[in-house]
Amino acid sequence: MQGKIIKGIAGFYYVHVVGSGVYECRAKGVFRNRKMKPLVGDNVIIDVLDEGEKKGNVSEILPRKNELIRPAVANIDQALLIFAAAKPTPNYNLLDRFLVMMRYQKVPVTICFNKSDLLEETEVEQIEKIYENCGFPVIFTSTKKQHGIEPLKSLLKDKTSAVAGPSGVGKSSMVNLLQPDANMETGDISRKIERGKNTTRHSELIHIEGNTYIMDTPGFSSLNIPGLSAEDLWKYYEEFLPYEENCRFQGCSHIHEPDCGIKAALKEGRIHPNRYENYVSLYGELRENRRY
Ligand code: GDP
Repeated sequence: MQGKIIKGIAGFYYVHVVGSGVYECRAKGVFRNRKMKPLVGDNVIIDVLDEGEKKGNVSEILPRKNELIRPAVANIDQALLIFAAAKPTPNYNLLDRFLVMMRYQKVPVTICFNKSDLLEETEVEQIEKIYENCGFPVIFTSTKKQHGIEPLKSLLKDKTSAVAGPSGVGKSSMVNLLQPDANMETGDISRKIERGKNTTRHSELIHIEGNTYIMDTPGFSSLNIPGLSAEDLWKYYEEFLPYEENCRFQGCSHIHEPDCGIKAALKEGRIHPNRYENYVSLYGELRENRRY
């Protein structure tokens, strides 16, 4: 039987089989010699040991489309970054950090601004302006007014999507709208704090319907990914790419050097100041990381 690992805890893998439910499985010895560890998101073949008890063994891992380092999952088709358009005001630095991390790992991203009911039309335009030429689709939703939910559903359909974003932006409300059975806690801060203290949160896939899965991605805000260097950071800012060839110096950091194509584009309004500012800050952070 073929299924998908939706959760892995203490040597058990929970495998969802469309139409049959979730099986608690062990991965038998076959994997030990091969250095291949089953990951959440893996499509696997299982041998059912007990249908009534829903228990089985993972006997084979099917070839992976991709494997992310952070979070450690396989076969992610896309990421959905959720921020609140207001309350709390978006932390653009955190947002750009997510974008860099996803682009570095070659995962297509859609940015979703929730709580659009709290915004004026002009504010929507301001947000759109920042991201219009960065190569990321932007959508606006309101889980409260149930606006924009249908386009979101079609975006997610038949894909496995990593959903990331800071707390308080309406992620749980959204997951509950998409999948009422998932029953994520909303706005219940005391329980959330308790959970944070007592349990380690693991990446987990939530089955929405058919072949649609989303992954609730516990906060991954550190940019410290092996292989991502400060010098390469500009490459993950799509709107910077056309201007780099105008830089006078090879290996230009786009911060201190004169005759920098990217700074010139910034001056001419072709690069949004907000994005550039975050570039400078992330660049500093990546340089700093290297010292340790
Ligand atoms: P999470 O921490 O990201 O999972 O966010 P929750 O779903 O728990 O929501 C945080 C708070 O924002 C709650 O008080 C929700 O009622 C509120 N909220 C969620 N979605 C919306 C929305 O679309 N508009 C408004 N105005 N408030 C929302």
